[in-house]
Amino acid sequence: MARLLIIGCGGVAQVAISKCCQNSDVFEEIMIASRTVSKCEAMKEKLQNTTKTVIKTAQIDADDVEALTKLIKDYAPDAVLNVALPYQDLTIMDACLAAGVHYIDTANYEPEDTDDPQWRAIYEKRCKELGFSAYFDYSWQWAYEDKFKDAGLTALLGTGFDPGVTSVFAAYAKKHYFDEIHTIDILDCNGGDHGYPFATNFNPEINLREVSAPGSYMENGKWVEIPAMSIKREYDFDGVGKKDMYLLHHEEIEALGRNMPEVKRIRFFMTFGQSYLTHMKCLENVGMLSTTPINFNGQEIVPIQFLKALLPDPASLGPRTVGKTNIGCIFTGIKDGKERSIYIYNVCDHQECYKEVGSQAISYTTGVPAMIGTMMVVTGQWKQPGVFTTDEFDPDPYMEALNKWGLPWQVVENPVLVD
Ligand code: NDP
Repeated sequence: MARLLIIGCGGVAQVAISKCCQNSDVFEEIMIASRTVSKCEAMKEKLQNTTKTVIKTAQIDADDVEALTKLIKDYAPDAVLNVALPYQDLTIMDACLAAGVHYIDTANYEPEDTDDPQWRAIYEKRCKELGFSAYFDYSWQWAYEDKFKDAGLTALLGTGFDPGVTSVFAAYAKKHYFDEIHTIDILDCNGGDHGYPFATNFNPEINLREVSAPGSYMENGKWVEIPAMSIKREYDFDGVGKKDMYLLHHEEIEALGRNMPEVKRIRFFMTFGQSYLTHMKCLENVGMLSTTPINFNGQEIVPIQFLKALLPDPASLGPRTVGKTNIGCIFTGIKDGKERSIYIYNVCDHQECYKEVGSQAISYTTGVPAMIGTMMVVTGQWKQPGVFTTDEFDPDPYMEALNKWGLPWQVVENPVLVD
């Protein structure tokens, strides 16, 4: 039925590829194209005798719009799924427009070089105007709205778990449980243990940039920014137990704040153990999280990229990670004149994911929704010209697909709230 070009072949991509191959009725043909083609070939080798999906591979540098446009035109897919890095979002969107195909991703744009003066000037203006200082924001991709609309193409942004499923949960809560939502708390708990003193569960560069940045939340339509890790709460997670969690800036706050302006407060919390935080603080203090190149023995290196080379590859954590994740949203509001609160969440087991697709649960909980979001677009269920986040469509078919494709969810009434 559909032909899909998948860009990237890291931890998340490998799950998305495996799930597309399980869903051959929709994804009859896929091409895996990435910077290191040997990884694409290894995935093809692993999967081709287990699926009806016809798999092709290609080498591509997705920063090169011209080469990518040619690849898209030659392969002629119905859509492109970007599971490379957020650095490539804009170049891949440009190539999709040039080639006339739909675009899907899991994370919003951020620049690789945060010292680029042109980007920096826009960034600093945004920090002042909006009041949050994260390197990533939706403005760059929302600016493509007219281009996608005029071309009659869909761009679906951020269809991972968070963002992605969490925003679908918000649309589902709004549709079925509330007349008015007043607060949303998004809780991301990873109770998994990989046995390393320090490792990240997805791309280290993107992950460490995100969690070492100041936290922020939205209250009455305005951003409130706080020093990194300065708001801490304990929560007892189903399937995991009690964990410390910290308030972070996160991209779905921005999209939900725009699309559900009636919500009075939106916050995001993620769990971290003390050892992770101590390692991260130490690395930050010695400059290892810096994105500014330094000269070392006559060679220019970017400290955080060097650190990435030292850390375990997140795609390799699958066999050794045990425990569960629990990711979801607590909503409060009004239904039929009465106060109501619900918690919608998924619990996912690292080892079950490994048995099924050879990956840990963080890659799994991102790669499955990447396949589902793509399926929504290519089957026409979520196909509209323009640029959208996952809270802007009918949540029901997506929620059904989560149950079917490995991420079952539950709704609990009157949950314990985060104060
Ligand atoms: P990885 O680093 O494991 O994989 C990234 C892949 O992209 C690698 O295969 C890499 O190639 C490839 N790549 C990088 N640059 C280019 C380029 N210029 N051209 C072509 N290919 C390129 O990352 P993850 O799999 O952990 O993360 C993938 C995406 O998922 C990220 O955008 C991340 O932010 C997002 N994510 C979203 C989440 C959500 O819930 N919404 C949660 C977790 C992640 P090579 O093999 O050569 O390095």
